[in-house]
Amino acid sequence: MERFEGSFTQQEPIPEDAIAAAVAVMRHGRLHRYNTEPGEAGEAALLEQEFAAAMGAKYALAVASGGYAMGCALRALGVRAGEPVLTNAFTLAPVPGAIAGIGARPVYVETTAQLTIDLDDLAARAGDSGARVLLLSHMRGHICDMDRLMAICDGAGIAVVEDCAHTMGAAWRGTPSGRHGRVACYSTQTYKHLNSGEGGLMISDDADLMARAILLSGSYMLYTRHRAAPPPEAFERAKWVTPNISGRMDNLRAAILRPQLRRLAAQCAAWNDRYRTVEAGLRGTPGLTIIERPEAEAYVGSSIQFLLQGWSAEAVNAVIRRCAGRGVELKWFGAEEPAAFTSRYDSWRYAEAPRLPQTDRVLASLLDMRLPLTFSLDDCALIARIIRAEVSAVFQAEGQGG
Ligand SMILES: *Cc1c(COP(=O)(O)O)cnc(C)c1O
Repeated sequence: MERFEGSFTQQEPIPEDAIAAAVAVMRHGRLHRYNTEPGEAGEAALLEQEFAAAMGAKYALAVASGGYAMGCALRALGVRAGEPVLTNAFTLAPVPGAIAGIGARPVYVETTAQLTIDLDDLAARAGDSGARVLLLSHMRGHICDMDRLMAICDGAGIAVVEDCAHTMGAAWRGTPSGRHGRVACYSTQTYKHLNSGEGGLMISDDADLMARAILLSGSYMLYTRHRAAPPPEAFERAKWVTPNISGRMDNLRAAILRPQLRRLAAQCAAWNDRYRTVEAGLRGTPGLTIIERPEAEAYVGSSIQFLLQGWSAEAVNAVIRRCAGRGVELKWFGAEEPAAFTSRYDSWRYAEAPRLPQTDRVLASLLDMRLPLTFSLDDCALIARIIRAEVSAVFQAEGQGG
């Protein structure tokens, strides 16, 4: 019986030129982003400039984490304590956490079988929730119909913050993910598309919002050292009334991100080769539903999801157990107890949430798997064979999934 021996959590090494850039920063010792010599830009300022250019945005800000970027974006939009903020019911814990972190209240929107935010439900809640902001999570890289989403939100006067933790390098109808909303947030945490251990980035074209975000991030009165920032006039009023909530990125992290950013397109292509190999291997498995990607979506397949629709919890667990026995790690979003990185809206009990029957149905059937770039295409084909065999076996034993 075939077994997969690789690790689902092993990333690629940091590229040699990025290591050299990090060593150079450590040799000169100026790790703090505002510790620069006269005329010197600093790695963090250069990263912001290059990231803004790569995404086609006017302004960019590098911060301590993706979660920090989201909280900072909400604050910069003026979200206040107690205020409702719309967000996806299917997302990762730091998303509702960013809302709760500023004392606001997440209002969850239903999930489709495409794993995106349900736009009919969004339209209804846009009317009745009183929310002024949507924190939209492109969870696991699935992008909803952004044209319709923006029409709904623009029509209701709702500002959109995009959580692009899984869509850095992706696009909808040719527009980069993160360029539809008012502001977008990215993560450079190890499991995302660039790896600095921890880190976050924010982009926007809104000068006033970005001036507030830069001040919030802990710029003191050194904001003129930013190179992807609005002009000093934009800071004039804000600098008196914006608290410093320290969350800067340092030059060491920025130094290892800049060479990685130059390779982003090639890395995304490599992820998609792996994604398509697994997808092709799973297609046609009895009882298993592939999530078909819309033509308008240019995705980054850094993870893959599939559904076991109508299966009992026991049958899904049997698949997970049997795959794990052959070295294939699947995450299930239907489990009652939160585990590792996987939790659900009803386990975030600090916030009140009504039951969302459609989301419950989708999550109960949803299996998820990372595709690190350390996997070869042969590894991916093997992983697909193992899942196919085990899903088929359980499906037959259970009589159509029980
Ligand atoms: C990782 C992640 C974040 C937060 O990023 P951190 O840098 O870990 O704070 C936000 N949203 C989603 C969907 C994520 O996966």
